[in-house]
Amino acid sequence: GLRWGLIGASTIAREWMIEAIRGAGGEVMAVMSSDPERSQRFASENGIAAATTDLDALLGSGIDAVYISTTNEHHCSQTLAAAAAGKHVLCEKPLALNLADARRMVAACKAAGVQMGTNHHLRNAATHRAIHAAIKAGHIGKPLFARVFHAVYLPPHLQGWRIERPGAGGGVVLDITVHDADTMRFVLDENPVAVTAMMSRGGMGQAGLEDGVMGVVRFESGLIAQFHDAFTTRYAVTGFEVHGEEGSLIGTDCMTQQPKGEVLLRTRDGEKQLSIAHENLYLRAVRLFGDAVAGRGAPSATGEDGIKSLSVALSTREAARTGHETPIDLTT
Ligand code: NDP
Repeated sequence: GLRWGLIGASTIAREWMIEAIRGAGGEVMAVMSSDPERSQRFASENGIAAATTDLDALLGSGIDAVYISTTNEHHCSQTLAAAAAGKHVLCEKPLALNLADARRMVAACKAAGVQMGTNHHLRNAATHRAIHAAIKAGHIGKPLFARVFHAVYLPPHLQGWRIERPGAGGGVVLDITVHDADTMRFVLDENPVAVTAMMSRGGMGQAGLEDGVMGVVRFESGLIAQFHDAFTTRYAVTGFEVHGEEGSLIGTDCMTQQPKGEVLLRTRDGEKQLSIAHENLYLRAVRLFGDAVAGRGAPSATGEDGIKSLSVALSTREAARTGHETPIDLTT
């Protein structure tokens, strides 16, 4: 198993990733936090032997890989340092706050010969894999439209930098639209070319940060996809739908961290619930990352995928700001 160092004493590490790393046969060797007291407490609460505030000490501690889940403005410098130390990098989304930094991260990992993954968990959801497979099998004919419902309620313990700090990459677009973008690229197996959007402030976002967005993305084939993301909707249901010439796939309760949700196929033959073998999304991501390090395949979402999802998010913001359909630059 891989020996991991955690960069960031974060909620996502505590709630999902430590368990996923251990479940995939890896070991969490050490955690790094900017705050000595927090790193010690995080280590002892999570059964991690070593705690540090020094990135070089973490990188020099005999680990194979790092999982980076600090706030977004730190991802770039920490990835560059890990790559320079020859460590494989699994980094949280958004990879960075701008495309130049994200490209630099991917290039550095490539130059160092280490694996880089972006933690877009939704590609690992059995629901999305089932929708992808049903499209590939021709069950809905040519896909014409997609709709993504990812409006949620940001729980109080996460209402910090996401709604307060533009410089940390706050706002719903960098937080949630990046996931929609990656999920659409995976499920539809094609790339977006342009986006148009409007953003809103429903009372949660501060410092000018948006807490709601609706937009439409145009893809290479001519398919258009709508998305709706929010921090402020307590009672909405998430979903992902693809509508084709011969049928529709309706995923419900599937834009989530939990291994749950359903997928309905509707065609001229009627309605059929697809059989879904749910599996922990983060565990699958860590397992595939380990396989990639061992020379078998690629991470479920690569560094390049992370650049592309960031690009969709940045173009979404630009489109909302200008009121114009905005091209999406997919240069990696
Ligand atoms: P947190 O706010 O929990 O942690 C982010 C950083 O905030 C930590 O690294 C820590 O810094 C600092 N921090 C934690 N607690 C405190 C505190 N009490 N006071 C001051 N600072 C504190 O963020 P999340 O876990 O929600 O998100 C982290 C990253 O993961 C982001 O990039 C986010 O976009 C991503 N994410 C991805 C998800 C996915 O499913 N792929 C889901 C959730 C988040 P330090 O390490 O220096 O102590």
